[in-house]
Amino acid sequence: MSLESNVGVSDAVLLDPITEDAFIDNIHERFKHDLIYTYIGNVVVSVNPYQKLQLYTHDVIDEYRSRNIYELPPHIYAIADDAYRSMRDRNLDQCIIISGESGSGKTEASKVIMQYVAEVSGKGQDIDTVKEQLLQSNPVLEAFGNAKTVRNDNSSRFGKYMDIEFDYKGDPIGGVITNYLLEKSRVAVQSKGERNFHIFYQLLSGADPQLLKSLKLHESAQDYVFLRNGGNGLSSATDDAENFRIVKNGMEIIGFSSEEINHVFKLVSTILKLGNIQFTPRVNEDGTDGCDIGAENEVQEVCELLGCSKELLDAALTQRTVEVKGDKVKTHLKNNDAYYARDALCKALYSRMFSWLVQRINDSIKVILNSLKIDTKGKTKVMGVLDIYGFEVFQNNSFEQFIINYCNEKLQQIFIELTLKEEQEEYVKEGIEWIHVEYFNNAVICDLIEKNNVGILALLDEECLRPGDVTDTTFLNKLNQRCAQHPHYESRSCKKTQSDKSLPHDAFRLRHYAGNVLYKVEGFIDKNNDLLFRDLSQAMFSCKNPLLKTLFPEGNPSQKSLKRPVTAGSQFKISVTELMKNLLSKNPNYIRCIKPNDDKKASVLDVNLVRHQVRYLGLMENVRVKRAGYAFRQSYGIFLYRYKMLAKETWPSWKGEAKEGVKLVLESQNIPSEEYAFGKTKIFIRNPKTLFEIEERRRDKM
Ligand code: ADP
Ligand code: MG
Repeated sequence: MSLESNVGVSDAVLLDPITEDAFIDNIHERFKHDLIYTYIGNVVVSVNPYQKLQLYTHDVIDEYRSRNIYELPPHIYAIADDAYRSMRDRNLDQCIIISGESGSGKTEASKVIMQYVAEVSGKGQDIDTVKEQLLQSNPVLEAFGNAKTVRNDNSSRFGKYMDIEFDYKGDPIGGVITNYLLEKSRVAVQSKGERNFHIFYQLLSGADPQLLKSLKLHESAQDYVFLRNGGNGLSSATDDAENFRIVKNGMEIIGFSSEEINHVFKLVSTILKLGNIQFTPRVNEDGTDGCDIGAENEVQEVCELLGCSKELLDAALTQRTVEVKGDKVKTHLKNNDAYYARDALCKALYSRMFSWLVQRINDSIKVILNSLKIDTKGKTKVMGVLDIYGFEVFQNNSFEQFIINYCNEKLQQIFIELTLKEEQEEYVKEGIEWIHVEYFNNAVICDLIEKNNVGILALLDEECLRPGDVTDTTFLNKLNQRCAQHPHYESRSCKKTQSDKSLPHDAFRLRHYAGNVLYKVEGFIDKNNDLLFRDLSQAMFSCKNPLLKTLFPEGNPSQKSLKRPVTAGSQFKISVTELMKNLLSKNPNYIRCIKPNDDKKASVLDVNLVRHQVRYLGLMENVRVKRAGYAFRQSYGIFLYRYKMLAKETWPSWKGEAKEGVKLVLESQNIPSEEYAFGKTKIFIRNPKTLFEIEERRRDKM
């Protein structure tokens, strides 16, 4: 690997002036030379190259091992190494937060980190077993949680946080994965040109005839409604059959029993079959509307796969039990309601199975640890890796985008807190006078969304729980009443924005830190309620397939209390709060990923597209916060080593204290004294220009 060529600056903090244009130019120039990584201080900005670069070989890893972060060109390895060593040698738990929009390279970056850690940490039979399990969790979770979208052939449709645990020597001894909000609507409907989750196609094209027969499946994806609606079900970039073998093998290595694997595939098959059921309208004897099930054979086969009574499933799919004055009464579902309930069942089946898979992987790692007698009792250290959806702004934004963007507000919040805190702490530690940093604090937007009783999430819950006629419109009315005064809330009925024609009447707009987003309220109530008719959960619980009893505990008839399940919004708020607490307790490292173009093409960078992301990622905010005090800091020894040739007193070698040497160097260059400050261990330079001047003079002398 070549040492850094002189393309732009490798740290955007050194840009001068620090404008958005200068920032993008710099990234662009570097990108043209296959330099896809650039720092903002210790943040890595990564531009997806859409081509295999020789950046991840053993040789490159060797170069980055145990080197100081600024000695080599920017790389994820440098961040990974820095984090790993701080964790091991200084006992600081670490987290690596990866953000960026779909297709920007987050998941690949998380794998690069895992690869690095696996490579540089200790070797040995037991440790290798743990590493293997952790690494194998990737293809398994990708099969069930990723799908081809228009943005990314292998798009993660869930958020993932993984804590890798290490012993005192720095060897991995375990891991815990947490998953966030799987996009379960994809199970039933996909947009044009997109696919369902990979596993459906993998199973159909990779399972041997015997397995297919036992699952009562046909080979052709065309035979299944749930695989048809996005188009032809093919993907150019994935080899489904080969991946099926990898996934099955991965599940075996992780420790799934063949019975468990079989149960999982039975659920996958069940969903495909349920998707093929059709309902036809019917008028009941009492004159009400109801429906009949078509495709009886699919229902029959589902019952055989799950060990379910057909009578029970038929009834659960077409009727609903409601309580009227303490009596249970069966009512018929109208045709559309039956489809709705069927889809809700499929989505619940799939998303709960996915969460179970994650749980099962975690348990399996624990079991292995116990059997290997790896001592986890001692003090363990942790490195967390967060691969989570970035800020989303689409043509139509709904509940999902609202939730995802809320998560990004929270991430920005801890970024601000931690970065400023870190700056402040460094100044204090180095004995330098604190410089106040101006920045936009987005806590006000977080409050608007999440504050107890008054935030949008609370108002949504309130509306979901309110008896009477509740619709998305009544929810919007409530927001308009209660949030109209808020500076980050806008809608057609707010005084300040009532003449804004770009605001439709069925939507509200939030002024996020990263930009404005218009949310259509349609579906908010339904998605937040996330209800599954009790008849269906009871039918699932009654199945002989043991996995279903685990997945639908609320279907247990002996469960007396009919407590309302937590809403989707509240659930997400709880998990995000937990995640933030977890991240805040660790030393943060950031990777910000950028997608260079919308066509998955190598060597093409669309400046406008990149500009968009630079804004939504808040990168200029990043640079400004980092630049607010001193742009550059370096320990005396390293600085002197580089620039000692500039002063006759320090050249060729300086016997005194490094700090004194640095002082002599700076004085010899006539740098104004307000341009730098002496910390306890580091020299601080305020303006990048100063550094460049010194650097230039050094180059002239060479
Ligand atoms: P995200 O998780 O942000 O949605 P991915 O990590 O899945 O995006 O990346 C999308 C695709 O881009 C990958 O499947 C791969 O083809 C390509 N890609 C991403 N990062 C790199 C990289 N560092 N080198 C080469 N190709 C990459
Ligand atoms: Mg991803």
